[in-house]
Amino acid sequence: MKRITGWLKNLFSSSKDHESLFGKMIYMLASTREEELNCAQVYALLEQFSEAVLRHEPLTDLMMSIEQHLNVCPDCREEYETLLAMMKAA
Ligand SMILES: [Zn+2]
Repeated sequence: MKRITGWLKNLFSSSKDHESLFGKMIYMLASTREEELNCAQVYALLEQFSEAVLRHEPLTDLMMSIEQHLNVCPDCREEYETLLAMMKAA
């Protein structure tokens, strides 16, 4: 993940139209990707994440960030496990 964002930043800084909106968007995406998600963001994506897990879908970078957060945050982990149990039962 770090390698990709570094590559994007290189692309951005070497691009001659770096003032374009597209360039700015790529730069913003590359920047935000390195930040950790907070609980509210994880909570908002929890259902989507659980569905992806239940369907054994390949995890995107975003999904992996959620998984990472769940490993370090007991509160969100509990929410996730409750949601997962509900979805499995449904
Ligand atoms: Zn959390």
